[in-house]
Formats: sequence, C-alpha cells, structure tokens
Amino acid sequence: MTDCLFCRMVAKEIEPDVVYETARVLAFKDLNPQGPVHVLIIPKEHISTINELKEAHVLIAGEMMLAAQVVAGQLGVAEEGFRLVMNCNPHGGQSVYHIHMHLIGGRQLDWPPG
Ligand code: 5GP
Ligand code: ZN
Repeated sequence: MTDCLFCRMVAKEIEPDVVYETARVLAFKDLNPQGPVHVLIIPKEHISTINELKEAHVLIAGEMMLAAQVVAGQLGVAEEGFRLVMNCNPHGGQSVYHIHMHLIGGRQLDWPPG
C-alpha cells in the first residue's frame, strides 16, 4: 500500500520518531500530540480499519496492546496511567486508514471523550 502513510513508515520511506519496534508492530510519536506522551502503535501489516480485523490478526492485535504496555513503561506513564484509543471510521474520528492505537498520557484525561 504505497499510498498509505503508515505503510510508508513501515517501509522506512518516511521516518517517524520510533520508540519501539518488533517484527510485527511499530510505535512512534504522534505528529500532533494530545498530551506530554502521545504514541501511535501500528501493525506492520496494512489493515485499514478495526472492521477489517480477522481471526488471523489476533496475535498482531495482542502485540499492539503489549507494545503499549512496554512503551508506557519506557516513557514513564505506566504508574500514573494513560489511555489507549482506537478510532474507527468517520464517527470514531479515524483520519489515517491503517489501524493504530493511540497511547496518550502524562496529564489527567477527561471522560467521556468528546
Ligand atoms: P486518527 O485520527 O486516524 O485516529 O489518528 C491519526 C493520527 O496520526 C493523528 O493523531 C495524527 O496526529 C497522526 N499523524 C498524521 N500524520 C502523521 C505523520 O506524518 N507523522 C506522525 N508521526 N503522525 C501523524
Ligand atoms: Zn497501511
């Protein structure tokens, strides 16, 4: 998917500020951070929305959450807390159609979200 921004990051055509990487997932700082810590965790495989997740992606989906745990520890927000968010389609506020988990922390977050 050469027209996909996040696939281009996986291919290293664009180099984001990477904080964590495994064979299956990549985590990098969000360009427009919504808190002192804002990292995006993506699968290296192109999956456009959560609606396209399949049984075969279970390992990848689990790795994304474990990656979030590692990154939260690395960036020092594990103890005070953080939020994981995945937006799906227009009502969810998704703007990049390659699934990604937002890890946001370093400040008190409001609930419910807007
Ligand atoms: P979404 O709105 O799809 O849930 O989240 C997309 C996220 O990607 C946004 O938080 C946005 O700031 C981030 N983003 C968009 N373009 C870039 C980019 O070129 N580099 C990085 N690091 N983040 C980006
Ligand atoms: Zn992609």
